[in-house]
Amino acid sequence: MGWLDAWKGFGITFTTMFRRTFTQGYPQKGREKVTQARFHGRHQLNRWPDGLEKCVGCELCAWACPADAIYVEAGANTDEERYSPGERYGMVYEINYLRCIFCGMCIEACPTRALTMTNEFKLADRSRERLIYTKEELLAPLVEGMEAPPHPRRLGDDERDYFLGLPDSGTDSRVPTRSRSQARRKGDRA
Ligand code: SF4
Ligand code: SF4
Repeated sequence: MGWLDAWKGFGITFTTMFRRTFTQGYPQKGREKVTQARFHGRHQLNRWPDGLEKCVGCELCAWACPADAIYVEAGANTDEERYSPGERYGMVYEINYLRCIFCGMCIEACPTRALTMTNEFKLADRSRERLIYTKEELLAPLVEGMEAPPHPRRLGDDERDYFLGLPDSGTDSRVPTRSRSQARRKGDRA
């Protein structure tokens, strides 16, 4: 190694100091932290468009979790007190963020897409108890057109009608399946 090589090394360090960084400091004053859309953050329990809960209390997420971070207890729906459109709903639902490693196995296991992960990463807290999130904390907020359960299914006359009437996309449409596919074909030709 020649005596100039060490100075070449210092030169690289010096020029790198003025390059635009790829990473973003946190917290950075006046600039919200940007995450990728695929980032695994806090979980969310989703709802159907009428506000009923998607979770059916099947516990598949809890079984799939390698860190044993999820606790689920199912309850039975009745026509008088209905929380989800199916037979059962997640009566107790907890995620322990002291254990969770944000691997996403639970959301892969969920058969109804009730459980997904948001981009929310600010989970630090001052007590261990606060890091056990309950169902109320994990449930998606009610948006326009949704009603807080319990209530009957609003998207059809019975369970079958409820699911068949659900839109292909985010647009709420009660158009029969055949008409929808015809409309799609017309759209393809346009
Ligand atoms: S993200 Fe992984 S560790 Fe966290 S609750 Fe889901 S399965 Fe368990
Ligand atoms: S979140 Fe999904 S996998 Fe977990 S209990 Fe509810 S429906 Fe089952």
